[in-house]
Amino acid sequence: MDYDRFFADRLTALRDEGRYRIFAELERRCGDFPHAAFHNDGTPRPVTVWCSNDYLCMGQHPKVIAAMHEALDGCGAGAGGTRNISGTNYLHCKLEHALREWHGKEAALIFTSGYVANLTALSTLAGNLPDCLVLSDAKNHNSMIEGIRSSRAEKALFRHNDVEHLEELLAAQPRDRAKLIAFESVYSMDGDFGPIEAVCDLADKYNAMTFLDEVHAVGLYGDTGAGVAQRDRAMERVDVIQGTMGKAFGVLGGYIAGKADLVDFVRSFGNGFIFTTALPPAIAAGARASLEVLRSDEGRALRARHQERAATTKSKLRAAGLPVMDSASHIVPVLVGEAALCKQASDLLLSEHGIYIQPINYPTVPRGTERLRITPSPKHGDAELENLTAALIDIWRRLGLSLREAAE
Ligand code: PLP
Repeated sequence: MDYDRFFADRLTALRDEGRYRIFAELERRCGDFPHAAFHNDGTPRPVTVWCSNDYLCMGQHPKVIAAMHEALDGCGAGAGGTRNISGTNYLHCKLEHALREWHGKEAALIFTSGYVANLTALSTLAGNLPDCLVLSDAKNHNSMIEGIRSSRAEKALFRHNDVEHLEELLAAQPRDRAKLIAFESVYSMDGDFGPIEAVCDLADKYNAMTFLDEVHAVGLYGDTGAGVAQRDRAMERVDVIQGTMGKAFGVLGGYIAGKADLVDFVRSFGNGFIFTTALPPAIAAGARASLEVLRSDEGRALRARHQERAATTKSKLRAAGLPVMDSASHIVPVLVGEAALCKQASDLLLSEHGIYIQPINYPTVPRGTERLRITPSPKHGDAELENLTAALIDIWRRLGLSLREAAE
C-alpha cells in the first residue's frame, strides 16, 4: 500500500470536484458582530459574516462574557478531570439544573458538544434496550447516524418528515418491541420543521420512545426559547430532548433532557460521557448566563427580531429573483446546484464583496442541491441586507446562474 499516494489522490479528487474545504480564518471581534476580520490572505481585511450559527450573537453578549470571566478567574481554565474523577464542578450541576427546568424535564445531562450528546445518548439507549429498532428520519444529522450506527441496533429509515411511512414501519413491529424514533425539529440545511406532534401521536399509538434533536431550535423557538417542541406544546410528550450550547447559546457543549432514570442511565453507561474530560467551568457558566438571557424578555425580543430578519432576507432575495429554497424557519438556503459553482460563488462573494458565506456541498447536502446557506441574525441591518442582495445578483450574473424574471 502506498499510503502517501492514497491520501494525495483522494484529496486531489476532492479538489477536482470543487468539494475541498478551505476554512475561513476569522477573527470575530466582540461587539462588532456580524463583522469580523478575515486572515487567510496574510493581511486581515473586514468581512461581513452571513453564515454563523451563533444565531442571536449570544457569543458576544456582555452577561455571557462576564459570567465566563468570573468563572475563569474563580475556578481556573479546565475542569480537572472526567465528571466521575474530580471533574464535576458545581457550575456543571447548576447548568444541568437550569436546562432541566427549561425543558420541563426531571433531569438533564451535559456533554462536550451536541455531536457527542447525540452520539453518546443514541448509542447508549439503542445499544442497551433489548432488540431495539431505531426509526430514523432520512435527513438526520451525521451525529445521530453515527450514534445509531455505533449502537449496533437495527435501523429503519423513514422518508424525511413522512409520518405515513413512519407509521407503516411502526405498524409492522410487535407492540412489545423496543422502538426509538430519532428526528429533528429544525433540519438545518433545508430549514424545514419536523412534525413533532404527529410523531408523538405515533409513538403513543405504537409504544415507541421519541428522541428529538433541537440543536437548531433551542434558544430560537417557543415562549421561553426552549425549542419547537415548546412552541408546539409537545415538550412533555418528547422522551429525550437533545440540544446544543454551541449555536443559539453562543458558547459550546451539548445536552439531553428527559426522565430522571433515563438520563441517569446515559450518565452511568454512556462512554462518550464517562471517558472524557468535563467541559471547562467557564463554559458551563457562560452557557447558563446565556440561557438566563434566552428565557427572559430580552430573549423574546431577540427571537422576534431574528424571525423578522430571516423573513425580510427571504423576501428581499426572492424579489431580486434569487432561487431561495422553501424554508419555514430562520435558515435561508439559496440553491446553486453544482459544487464547483457553489464554491466559486462563495469565493467571489468573499474576494469581491467582503461577504462570507461558506458553500454547502455534498455530503452535507445531496449532489445537485449545493447551496449557500444564509443565517441572518438580529444584528444584520438593512444596509447589510442591501449589500448582500446586490452582491448575490452580481455573482449570479457573472457565473451565468439563472435569476427569475422578477430581478430584471
Ligand atoms: N445536530 C444537528 C442537527 C447539527 O446540525 C449539529 C451541528 O451542526 C449537531 C447536532 C452537533 O452539535 P454541536 O455543533 O454542538 O456539536
